[in-house]
Amino acid sequence: MLLVPLKPGRSLMDWIRLTKSGKDLTGLKGRLIEVTEEELAKHNKTDDCWICIRGLVYNVTPYMEYHPGGEGELMKAAGADGTDLFDQVHRWVNYESMLKECLVGRMALKPIALPKESTSALSEEKKCLNGMLPESKIVGTSKSFAPSYDWFQTDCSVTVVVYTKQKGMNSEMVILDYEDSRLRGEIIIRDYSYLLNIELSNAVQEDIAVHVAEKVGKVEIVLKKKDNIPWKKLGQPLESHNSFIKRTDQGLYYRKCKLISKTEVTHDTRLFCLLLPQSTHFQVPVGQHVYLKQIVTGKEVVKPYTPVSCSLQTHFKEPSCHDGACLFLMIKIYPSGLFSSELDRLQIGDYIYVSNPEGSFQKCQVQTLEDLFLLAAGTGFTPMIKLLNYVLTNVNSLWTVKLMFFNKTEDDILWRDQLEQLILQDKRFEAQFILSEPSKEWNGKRGKISSSLLSEFFKRSKQDSKVLICICGPAPFTEQGERFLKDLGYCKEEIHSFTA
Ligand code: FAD
Ligand code: NAP
Repeated sequence: MLLVPLKPGRSLMDWIRLTKSGKDLTGLKGRLIEVTEEELAKHNKTDDCWICIRGLVYNVTPYMEYHPGGEGELMKAAGADGTDLFDQVHRWVNYESMLKECLVGRMALKPIALPKESTSALSEEKKCLNGMLPESKIVGTSKSFAPSYDWFQTDCSVTVVVYTKQKGMNSEMVILDYEDSRLRGEIIIRDYSYLLNIELSNAVQEDIAVHVAEKVGKVEIVLKKKDNIPWKKLGQPLESHNSFIKRTDQGLYYRKCKLISKTEVTHDTRLFCLLLPQSTHFQVPVGQHVYLKQIVTGKEVVKPYTPVSCSLQTHFKEPSCHDGACLFLMIKIYPSGLFSSELDRLQIGDYIYVSNPEGSFQKCQVQTLEDLFLLAAGTGFTPMIKLLNYVLTNVNSLWTVKLMFFNKTEDDILWRDQLEQLILQDKRFEAQFILSEPSKEWNGKRGKISSSLLSEFFKRSKQDSKVLICICGPAPFTEQGERFLKDLGYCKEEIHSFTA
């Protein structure tokens, strides 16, 4: 680029002064807009010149006289995408900061045709006006549901934006991992997952922010650059990148978590607290479980466990774990159990692999409930914990929550103190403990699950109330529960069984 002499008062310092003066340099009074290709093309004159660089559109009209290369150079990209030109001439220039006050907005999304080789290097994206990638590879669903993504950058950050086209998105639907320069994002949309799987081209910091615009279904993943240099491309696609596939058709993804505490719940059950990696974002939705994976006698073994809250007290805040989010698991140790006995041997500071959540329970099943009945046996109490916390704080329509809890002995009752405290605290909550091997001193209920025990305790607060009964325990217990409840007149939709 040839440098042209600038008029007096048009130096870089003068430009910086102008940008800090508070003048409206875009003509939009600070508003940011979505710019279509057609709109961009209209602004192609020296007195009205917009240029797109990496998906962001700038009104460079006020900058014309300050540009060291002169008006002619800028006009080469007037009303068009100037990314390639910009990269050829002065890629090192910090345009994001120089032109910050000239920012008009982002290019509006315009899906482009799927190239034959849709997994070609992501450097392809430079060719698109808005940095948008080819449409996602779709396996087994309609194209119109498939999300898409693009990215943009500032001096110090790179933001990947996923457009899910779904209303009612929430942060539980977004799972993100970053490990060894690989970024893996999974966005769960009903039975499908949209996957991002990229080897990033440059290094980023561990603390990654995820923002979800719930109403419009937009997910933003904000990566902080390690060295504040402009990125030419986002990275290299890895397996299944940019695809929208049935969740059942993909393997589980695991990340390594650190055991940071282990406390006694009963004589054989412990509360394990695992620390997720700092760059991992995932929350296990109410009623869902994860899989733990560890090597046992030289073989990889996987078992499901249901994360719990750290307390039944709804006002009790999860303790903030130094560097990231924690996962609490209440696990019974079977002396002859392959997996649980190995888990019990883990020391504080040891690592274990934790999968993404799974499970069929959905919060919408309890949203307008009037009665919630919980039927648990032994560690089958675990899914009831988060569920209790959730409904007692969030479901306004709720009249009663009744827990029928089967155990062998008094010593086996998990969180009995906390349950008794909750009964005192919340008028809506009742619990009944039933023991199959009680001591002589036990004056509560005894026996096994039966139709008469169920009908006696699970009484609706009013006739035809909206009810859900959740069951969890050993498989034969759950099956019997389902059968008894059906015989008592409850329909399929009123029963939810927690299973793997
Ligand atoms: P195994 O090696 O499978 O069994 C060895 C011996 O241990 C058996 O012979 C028996 O004596 C005893 N034993 C093992 N499993 C059982 C059993 N289910 N019932 C009775 N005796 C048994 N467990 C938890 O502690 N907390 C949870 O949050 C939890 N969540 C689960 C979620 C789901 C969806 C499912 C399906 C199961 C869940 N479990 C949970 C059970 C867990 O997955 C394992 O089955 C359990 O930890 C036993 O595994 P193990 O390898 O130690 O025992
Ligand atoms: P446990 O101590 O062996 O039993 C708890 C109570 O359930 C006892 O009163 C016991 O009565 C009764 N019970 C056990 N098996 C029964 C059966 N076949 N029919 C009727 N009643 C029965 O239970 P646990 O060792 O904690 O086991 C809990 C179970 O829950 C495990 O199988 C685990 O896999 C399952 N679980 C499932 C999930 C899930 O989401 N799917 C989550 C957590 C746990 P008896 O004395 O007569 O046996």
